[in-house]
Amino acid sequence: MKVLIVFAHPERQSFNGAMVDAAVAALEAAGHTVVVSDLYRMGFDPVSSRANFTSVKDPDYLKLQIEEMHATEVGGFSPEVEAEIEKVEACDLMIFQFPLWWFGLPAILKGWVDRVMAMGRTYGGGRFYATGPFQGKNALLSVTIGGPPENYRKGGFNGDITAILRPIHRGILQFLGFEVLAPELHHGPARATPEQRSAWLAAWQARLAAIGQESPYDVGPY
Ligand code: FAD
Repeated sequence: MKVLIVFAHPERQSFNGAMVDAAVAALEAAGHTVVVSDLYRMGFDPVSSRANFTSVKDPDYLKLQIEEMHATEVGGFSPEVEAEIEKVEACDLMIFQFPLWWFGLPAILKGWVDRVMAMGRTYGGGRFYATGPFQGKNALLSVTIGGPPENYRKGGFNGDITAILRPIHRGILQFLGFEVLAPELHHGPARATPEQRSAWLAAWQARLAAIGQESPYDVGPY
């Protein structure tokens, strides 16, 4: 299996970074090929603009989806965007590794989605959800969360984590055709003991060693 890990954390030595290292080791030991897009260390520009393209459809008015469809037709994506699209197209499993920031994706990862998931190439023309171009591929959110689990239950302080992640699961991953696997959630890594964090990393590796056998996850109701 080919696995793409899209990693968004400003500190490489963070617990998120340890989750990436654990994943790469476990997946490679199981015979899989792993590619990591480490967005901060790549200096990935999250701002969607004309810099997404080498081609131009309308020089007078920038409508991103029109330019995306044109770039799809003429091979006009910038090298930075084209390289990321090709990584997604090549993978069987895509993992997003990130800390929950403001109930969502860190801006650098949201910007990666904005720029890389381009109309024409990754959705559009009636191709989305069950007909999305990435059917047959799996996707998984591996998320660290500052608050404790009890704050993220239905009726809890922050509300149900399933509902918080649903816009990403449904509005991005399933929209593009991915089958969603259960999210990997770790609450309060900074407050956990070193032993607890080591146990989480080991459990993550055990999960990944058998990731090919997992069934799809229910992303929750509308
Ligand atoms: P770290 O603090 O990097 O890691 C914790 C500990 O793990 C560190 O001591 C580190 O040294 C240690 N560690 C590293 N490697 C290993 C290893 N190999 N083995 C064992 N231990 C190791 N939280 C919410 O709940 N909801 C929000 O909406 C939210 N919004 C936020 C918005 C912003 C802008 C920011 C900055 C934070 C927000 N947070 C929120 C908190 C955030 O989600 C957590 O701080 C983050 O998830 C913690 O993960 P980390 O990787 O940064 O942990």
